[in-house]
Amino acid sequence: SPVMRDDYARMVEIANEGSRELGFADTGALWRSGYDMPADDFAAETDRLWAKVKPFYENLHCYVRARLNAKYGDAVQPDHGAIRADLLGNMWSQQWGNIYDVVAPPSGGASSYDLTELLKAADYDATKMVKTGEGFYVSLGLDPLPQTFWERSQITRPRDREVVCHASAWDLDNADDIRIKMCTNVNGDDFYTVHHELGHNYYQRAYKNQPMLFRNGANDGFHEAIGDFVGLSALTPTYLNQIGLLKTTPGAEEDIPFLLKMALDKIAFLPFGLMVDRWRWDVFSGETAPAAYNTAWTADMLQYQGLVPPGPRPANAFDPGAKYHVPGNTPYTRYFLAAIYQFQFQRAACKQAGWTGPLHRCSVYGNNEVGARFNAMLQMGQSQPWQEAMKAFTGDGGNDASAIADYFAPLNDWLQEQNRGHQCGWSAA
Ligand SMILES: [Zn+2]
Repeated sequence: SPVMRDDYARMVEIANEGSRELGFADTGALWRSGYDMPADDFAAETDRLWAKVKPFYENLHCYVRARLNAKYGDAVQPDHGAIRADLLGNMWSQQWGNIYDVVAPPSGGASSYDLTELLKAADYDATKMVKTGEGFYVSLGLDPLPQTFWERSQITRPRDREVVCHASAWDLDNADDIRIKMCTNVNGDDFYTVHHELGHNYYQRAYKNQPMLFRNGANDGFHEAIGDFVGLSALTPTYLNQIGLLKTTPGAEEDIPFLLKMALDKIAFLPFGLMVDRWRWDVFSGETAPAAYNTAWTADMLQYQGLVPPGPRPANAFDPGAKYHVPGNTPYTRYFLAAIYQFQFQRAACKQAGWTGPLHRCSVYGNNEVGARFNAMLQMGQSQPWQEAMKAFTGDGGNDASAIADYFAPLNDWLQEQNRGHQCGWSAA
């Protein structure tokens, strides 16, 4: 998006002007101030979390690189160094689940079901997808969505006009007029997205009785993590069996394929969730000047994700402009935090539910006790520091990357075995 660069640079100036009027050094500092801790401490806190999960990401990166090398050969993807960003099945290389078929375990990689096919076979349509998402929240003891949600939401792509299809959730009156705007297709991705968006709506309605200034998420990472947490249960074969989509639940031999598929989305996302704002913090502070926008973006991609563009970028390239949240000026660290929080929520909820099996098979569907503690957190909105909201649901009050590590532990062991004899990692120079 080369034509966007000058406008973006001007927007950065205007945003910084406003941030300075509010008493912040720049817009990055304003964004870092929303986490109930000094802004510098927050940046260090994200470094600490990243250091915890990075070894895991490197194992996944190493395994995927070897599989891509096996498929495409040394000339396209060498078995060392960075991965070519265009081989990962996603425009921004932020989630890699679309190339599961390429990187599936060499033996026994086939999963006995494909969620998209299950939904189609059961004749789901867009409305039924959303109804099913609502059904999960209701099963936890929360109220059904209001009638106006069904009358006013955009659930399918309108036939008579162009719309922005990027899924979003809205709260129109700070009370009950909650809606989603999606172009829902019947597939596994959108099944998950429905649960994500409804998480925003359920959060919004839960905190509607707080004073106006507190009608918001405990922090912005919470807002993104609510629906993702519900989605972790909703994607399990345990749950798909409970609602009749899956006739039998697969055995332990499908644990690695399932976890690998999840990791291609959840673990692969972590460095991307971090690097978008690492780049922007430098842009807002002036450390990165407009002329260096794209080279800095490519350097961050390499440093955090271990990815490279397929070839040299043109001098006028502005790759970050292609990411919705950059021109939209939506902070992005929230998604990195949400990727950590959702597993904290899930581990705590499964413990409350008395679940003793592997974490990745746990579904809290229908559990009112979990629902009551979940709702206690939702109702707090932004009225307390986020650490208190975290405590209300999980019993612990901090950022804790050990939950995501617990969830993926069996896969991490497996990856290490697969990577034996390979030189993992890449040079960021
Ligand atoms: Zn969201």
